[in-house]
Amino acid sequence: MSKYDTFIGLEIHIQLLTETKIFCNCKSNFGDEPNSNVCPVCLGYPGVLPALNEEAVKLSYIVCRAMNCDLAKEGVFERKNYFYPDLTKNYQISQFEKPFGRNGYFEYESGDEIKKIRFHEIHLEEDAGKMIHEGDRSYCDYNRAGTCLLEIVTEPEFKEPQEAEDFLQAFRRAVRHLGVCDGNMDEGSMRCDANISLNLPGKGLGTKAEVKNVNSSRFVKKALQYERKRQEKILKSGGTVIQETRLWDEQRSVTESMRTKEQAHDYRYFPEPDLPPFRPDEAFLQIVEEAQIELPLARKQRFMEQYKLTEVQAEWVCEEKQSADFFEKVVSLGADAVTTAKWLMGNIAKELNARNIAKTDLGTDSCQLTEKRLAELFDLLSNNKIHAKIAVQTLQIIFDEDKNPTNIVKENGWEQSAEDEGELENIVKQILADNPKVVEQIKGGDQKPRGFIVGKVMAATKGTANPQSVQALITKLIEG
Ligand SMILES: [Zn+2]
Repeated sequence: MSKYDTFIGLEIHIQLLTETKIFCNCKSNFGDEPNSNVCPVCLGYPGVLPALNEEAVKLSYIVCRAMNCDLAKEGVFERKNYFYPDLTKNYQISQFEKPFGRNGYFEYESGDEIKKIRFHEIHLEEDAGKMIHEGDRSYCDYNRAGTCLLEIVTEPEFKEPQEAEDFLQAFRRAVRHLGVCDGNMDEGSMRCDANISLNLPGKGLGTKAEVKNVNSSRFVKKALQYERKRQEKILKSGGTVIQETRLWDEQRSVTESMRTKEQAHDYRYFPEPDLPPFRPDEAFLQIVEEAQIELPLARKQRFMEQYKLTEVQAEWVCEEKQSADFFEKVVSLGADAVTTAKWLMGNIAKELNARNIAKTDLGTDSCQLTEKRLAELFDLLSNNKIHAKIAVQTLQIIFDEDKNPTNIVKENGWEQSAEDEGELENIVKQILADNPKVVEQIKGGDQKPRGFIVGKVMAATKGTANPQSVQALITKLIEG
């Protein structure tokens, strides 16, 4: 056990899924030709005026509400002044004194425990452009400049690097379920700065170092683990940790000093004169309220309780909102919940993978397997119209030919003649009569040739016979 207390806080930036940027009508697409989505406003030409994107404000309030924040009755934009080549105006429009959300919290799983992290604030701001460094040259791409960025600031209450990783994964899932951000850390649409300080027990926060822009939740954990060791060593030797910004070096798994950390007053914040304060009215707040959903953790717990799914099944189904919605729709159409979960994780996942269909495509036009078709397939199966192997084949054809299972089964003559036990019995009888030696072997106690008979029956019925029924018939006809 370390003799120091650890205090970890995170600042998460999420790019909101708006079509256009925050103060102009440029598209906010990722991956377009550099500097193709730009205009005088987002390039910071003198004399231009920002016009606030209401969709961005709406999505921000939806997140604030989902994260249990006090919602601002008045949200104010301020200028944060600093120079950097990716920031053409020399200031960033952000929020300082009056952010949209304060005092929120979020529950997440870490190990076997449900933990709660409090949020200091959530505010909306414009993103900066992107610098690309190649050899001794640097390039600026301003496509990202002015895209809608929501910053979520936690209290420094994580005690372990592992908690920070678990939180980030859960938070990413939550914003994806809310439909406000794609959570793609590789593409930078979700980014994280982590701060950490150590102190003797009872002494409160220590001097913190901040690790910037780490691009995966696992690296956040690794960077924090490294940083905790580094600070502990300094403190143990009687030294002082300096407040600074550090960068995570992925190759060498170390953090390195980048610059001493600015204090808030260095930025000379002042209210943005070109934007009035935002005051939500009743109608706006109503829309925010209606956009609230059951968050993934609550939904997972409910699925285990209500549908008796195992934790692994509930976790899989609730990973994406689309898969959870799909599951519930299929069950509401009469399918058995556990069977549905098993099929989703097994046969269906296999088909989706093979066809490059994402889990998030479930229930959309990009996926041939609709809720209704799956419920219909289960119906055929549970009513013994078809058996399991035929059901899997039918599933494949649903994807290949975009047809209903009942039609597929009919067209292929796959109806199980279960209701026609007599006919199946005649077929088995005939095959036994054609193979007297095999019958003798079985009578003599050798069970192996049974498979041969089953195979013959399956061939004769084009695979529609239920293997269990065939086995039962063999027993009945041979042993009497
Ligand atoms: Zn623009």
